[in-house]
Amino acid sequence: MKHNDDLVLNVIKANAKPLTAYEILSKVQKVKKIQPMSVYRSLKNLQTQGKIHKSNQSKSFLLCNENDHEHVHNPVLVICNDCGKTEELEVNSFSKLLANLKTKAQFQFQNFQMEVSSTCKGCN
Ligand SMILES: [Zn+2]
Ligand SMILES: [Zn+2]
Repeated sequence: MKHNDDLVLNVIKANAKPLTAYEILSKVQKVKKIQPMSVYRSLKNLQTQGKIHKSNQSKSFLLCNENDHEHVHNPVLVICNDCGKTEELEVNSFSKLLANLKTKAQFQFQNFQMEVSSTCKGCN
């Protein structure tokens, strides 16, 4: 893994809450003088390697739950509407559910990303 990827991954690991690209950039820049483009490239790399996931809804990045990073998997994320707390859900049950769905365009669902909006216990 490249050094910059490592720095970016460590910042994400050190924060319980998912961070936006901008928040990650400013935290990495406290440690190292680094171009925004390099941070964004590292975020892309880490996503491609399956080490992190990006929530399209909250535009933030979180660590993948799985220890096995041998292959990249389809993420299912649940996000709290109120506080933005984000968690990764067990993907298997959703894969089966989607595989059985019939869609007009016959989506195959080998690759998918799912985001569920809900409210966490703390905000209920
Ligand atoms: Zn994951
Ligand atoms: Zn909440």
